[in-house]
Amino acid sequence: QMVYPNFLDQKSREVIEYSSEYLLISVLHNLLQGECNPDLRLLGCSVLAPQCQKDKAIKPCRHVCENLKKNCLPAFDAIDMAWPYFLDCDRFFAGEEEGCFDPLAKLRGEVDAEEDLPSDLPATFIQFKHHSYSQMVSTLKKTASKCSHIATTYSIGRSFEGKDLFVIEFSTKPGHHELLKPEFKYIGNMHGNEVVGKELLIYLAQYLCSEYLLGNPRIQALINNTRIHLLPSLNPDGYELAAEEGAGYNGWVIGRQTAQNLDLNRNFPDLTSEAYRRAGIRGARLDHIPIPQSYWWGKVAPETKAVMKWLRSIPFVLSASLHGGELVVTYPYDYSRHPMEEKMFSPTPDEKVFKMLAKAYADAHPVISDRSELRCGGNFVKRGGIINGAEWYSFTGGMADFNYLHTNCFEITVEVGCEKFPLEEELFTIWHENKGALLNYMEMVHRGIKGIVSDKFGNPIKNARISVRGIQHDVTTAADGDYWRLLPPGTFIISAQAPGYSRVMKRVTIPARMKQAGRVDFVLRPVETWPNKLLRRSMEDAYDPHDPLELFDPHAQHGQPGARGGSSPGREKPWWWSYFSSLDLHKPLWLLKQR
Ligand SMILES: [Zn+2]
Repeated sequence: QMVYPNFLDQKSREVIEYSSEYLLISVLHNLLQGECNPDLRLLGCSVLAPQCQKDKAIKPCRHVCENLKKNCLPAFDAIDMAWPYFLDCDRFFAGEEEGCFDPLAKLRGEVDAEEDLPSDLPATFIQFKHHSYSQMVSTLKKTASKCSHIATTYSIGRSFEGKDLFVIEFSTKPGHHELLKPEFKYIGNMHGNEVVGKELLIYLAQYLCSEYLLGNPRIQALINNTRIHLLPSLNPDGYELAAEEGAGYNGWVIGRQTAQNLDLNRNFPDLTSEAYRRAGIRGARLDHIPIPQSYWWGKVAPETKAVMKWLRSIPFVLSASLHGGELVVTYPYDYSRHPMEEKMFSPTPDEKVFKMLAKAYADAHPVISDRSELRCGGNFVKRGGIINGAEWYSFTGGMADFNYLHTNCFEITVEVGCEKFPLEEELFTIWHENKGALLNYMEMVHRGIKGIVSDKFGNPIKNARISVRGIQHDVTTAADGDYWRLLPPGTFIISAQAPGYSRVMKRVTIPARMKQAGRVDFVLRPVETWPNKLLRRSMEDAYDPHDPLELFDPHAQHGQPGARGGSSPGREKPWWWSYFSSLDLHKPLWLLKQR
């Protein structure tokens, strides 16, 4: 039995059945792809058609509403829908003491109430499938919402066709850099047709979230001590083209490039040539090399600019870019030190560090490290599955060289599997082969030393240089004066210096078994004169305030939006809005999230 008006002050059955609230309840099952039902429909009905006792409507119970909201909110977030106003647990529901009824009582039936309560333990349920762009976005948002205390999503900018380049971040303080906490990133799908890296990162995000909640000590230690950024798809426009060909298609061209026909791993500034020019000059450093003006005369993809802005906004320490079509780990330089030699060993000053990093991935990958295995393409078994990039094949304008020569970040390239676009049924095996390696590599961000550079009053000094004797490559301190210097085990002479301060040196030994960064702080004393003019100049021109990157808005629209029906979440109405187009009046604007 029910009475009119209901709790929304609707006075007849007709009014209710033509309302947007009623329509929402009837389509909700489809919109949420089957999650949270049928419970949520019963909850909605208990407000639209309230039960009554002695001609008086009784409110449904608040605790039932709160329980359901906790479980269902991620599904709403995933489709970018606001929580419906008429399911506001405070407004339309009542506490036990006021007298309420449980709209789900019938569902519970004879089942023991204890048994039926939704368990707080999250199920580790990863769907090992290919994700379209919108499925990827929805999975990432759902994951971030399920783990909202340790995860968030954000976009670093837009692709040429207007798709957001989505990142999911894991950290104990999502959205913020914390003092001395190293920043790590994985980038996938830079080549749109190399899709395995993208899927691995989507699975990794779900794995990190549920294992953290389940109390896996390794994952908890990792997330508690690291800020992790996963960008599954750097080239979503190219992915869409490749996906049209279908899985199993293993071509080498379609979808590799962006919608602008640019190869992103050839589109970064070539700083490697400049590094070779400087290498022989005494005292010159091969780091923080500025972007040459001439670079901006060429075509620079919005995806490339978005990555460059991202690198400037976060003090990344370690990174890997996931490619496909081979099974090998490569490390800088990717560009040969002799322009005419296409397969020439071309090490950076940090050859030992890069080798250690590359091995950390390769050794934890059962197929890359299996010496008996007959595998795809080139034979890297004798080298332990790793190779210097230029020695494999030389190319210019790569992202890894740019990371190393322009920022503090060390980046390697991993070819995660023989096929670029494998069949769906192969994905589970590929995940299993890479899972341990992906975790192992992230943990490498804690090698070497880290610390704070400050003056004698404890004020942090940003952009101070940390030099290692014998390695012609410095790292600089971040805004809070904190720095991270990846190093292999051994004894090193480390020095810190900044303009206007005297240089301080320390001798440091890193034991072979140490798996945490050693803490080495520096306190600098001010000096009147600055001794090294060359150094000062090279520090001043590190970031040209007039370079076009400073003015670039990565979130602006670049190409023709939706040229191939590409979806662009954000400005326009969400896809489910069409469900409500039949309503002339009273369109449910309350379902649109505030931006
Ligand atoms: Zn590639």
